[in-house]
Amino acid sequence: MLSINLVWLKRDLRLEDHAPLAQASISGLPTLICYCFEPNLLLDPHLHDSHQRFIVQSLTDLSQQLKRQHLSLNVFWCDMVTLLEELDKHFVIEHIFSHEEIGVASTFARDKAVASWCRQHQVKWQEFPQFAVQRGQFGRKGWSKFADDFFDQALVQPQLHKLKCLTLPPDHPIQQLKCKQLPSRWLQANADYQSGGESEAQKQLNHFLDSAISKYCFHISKPDTSRLFSSRLSTYLAYGNLSLRSVLHRLKALPSSRHRSAFYSRMRWHCHFVQKFESDCRIEFEPLNPAYTRLLAQHQQTLNPSQQQEYFEAWASGQTGYPLIDACMRSLLRTGFVNFRMRSMLVSVACHHLQLDWKQVAIHLARHFLDFEPGIHYPQIQMQAGLTGFNTLRIYNPIQQSLKQDAQAHFISEYVPELNDFPLELRHQPWLITPMEAQMFSDLPEVYAKPLFDLTETGRSARERLWAWRNSPEVKASVPKLLRNQVSVNG
Ligand SMILES: Cc1cc2nc3c(=O)[nH]c(=O)nc-3n(C[C@H](O)[C@H](O)[C@H](O)COP(=O)(O)OP(=O)(O)OC[C@H]3O[C@@H](n4cnc5c(N)ncnc54)[C@H](O)[C@@H]3O)c2cc1C
Repeated sequence: MLSINLVWLKRDLRLEDHAPLAQASISGLPTLICYCFEPNLLLDPHLHDSHQRFIVQSLTDLSQQLKRQHLSLNVFWCDMVTLLEELDKHFVIEHIFSHEEIGVASTFARDKAVASWCRQHQVKWQEFPQFAVQRGQFGRKGWSKFADDFFDQALVQPQLHKLKCLTLPPDHPIQQLKCKQLPSRWLQANADYQSGGESEAQKQLNHFLDSAISKYCFHISKPDTSRLFSSRLSTYLAYGNLSLRSVLHRLKALPSSRHRSAFYSRMRWHCHFVQKFESDCRIEFEPLNPAYTRLLAQHQQTLNPSQQQEYFEAWASGQTGYPLIDACMRSLLRTGFVNFRMRSMLVSVACHHLQLDWKQVAIHLARHFLDFEPGIHYPQIQMQAGLTGFNTLRIYNPIQQSLKQDAQAHFISEYVPELNDFPLELRHQPWLITPMEAQMFSDLPEVYAKPLFDLTETGRSARERLWAWRNSPEVKASVPKLLRNQVSVNG
């Protein structure tokens, strides 16, 4: 039987700085380059059609790039273990080359099944890091230096002209597992969302480094202009259309500035947060600080389930009666993006003001963030929902944020157009309308006349509750150990 290698593409849909492809290029063996849409994983609640559409666009771009090099990409519709079982009937699989994935529980379980299959069949599976993340690392000692070294490493460029591609004849039994027809909803372009693919990613990177970065710090917290002046690289990094290291190498060539430093810090945070998740992936299901499990469960019993459901639906659809909150959620539902500050505010409103279950909040946001990256998402959710016991507690006031970050209400006007006939102050706080104004303007929608909750009251009770929990002996008891594992130490 013919010996082959496999390059298994996952969240690394590019050619640049691609160690698995580079390794396959020098191996000399025929190589099957594959991507699997895995039916079991597609059931994961974090996923949304917009993610699959981005993946399809990325695969299309990759396939075109490979074709130009006379290479081919094979897209399968089956679980990875099923593909391996079938390949094993016809070939001797020598190596699987892939990037490490730091994913949710479902992809972790799949990886463990693949690892077990490889052990049983004496197949060598070699995984390469694509972030500054140490596998199975529990303390943070030495992480900073490790990250610096990782960022400085040379890019690993595959010598594609040397890669021998395994091409399957049309009647080969493995063809049965190929993806025949993708769901049409994954194929419909949507101009409100970023498009996937390495070519698009490079265009966005050039645009950002050539011009937008010069205004980065001025706009990063603003919900409308951050869409133009922040890097907008998160989705390209999440699906590996760009290698994080290659972005940092390009950044180094720019002159120093506060904008460059601010962007560099965030790229570093990317790896810092993914490392947190790698070190403690139970935070997909449990509060980081274990004491909150009992405190939240007890508190949950004091809440009215049908009212909580009503709150969740209003928050999740952008109908709370607070214009900025609703604009953020509607922007997310329409475009797959809101900036960092607004994400934090959405979580704060949901978990602190409305007392919603943080897991339900996390899943809803993950589904709608086009850039969903488990390793950033879950640690951020835990921080913003106040579940660590040591990070700053932030209970956002959406009115203050609205007046400060969207002073001219441009963002609100775009996503809450039902307020556009009202004067500027009322677009921030429509419930302040006077009886005289009510006669002058068109009907104010009911939810904006009387918002879903009383912000002053919910803010006050959240502060009392959260600080009582934070100061409780059981929360404090876990903090020293968490600080050792979660916070970077130089050296
Ligand atoms: C509750 C919550 C959930 C989040 N979930 C995700 C997620 O699933 N995927 C994701 O990529 N980001 C997530 N973020 C972080 C951040 O909001 C986004 O990375 C950022 O808004 C993306 O826009 P940008 O690419 O223009 O970022 P820029 O501001 O230009 O930053 C550059 C890059 O740095 C990284 N980065 C920026 N901010 C952070 C941060 N706070 N923590 C870690 N890395 C950061 C991202 O890779 C980003 O692309 C989350 C933040 C919060 C508060």
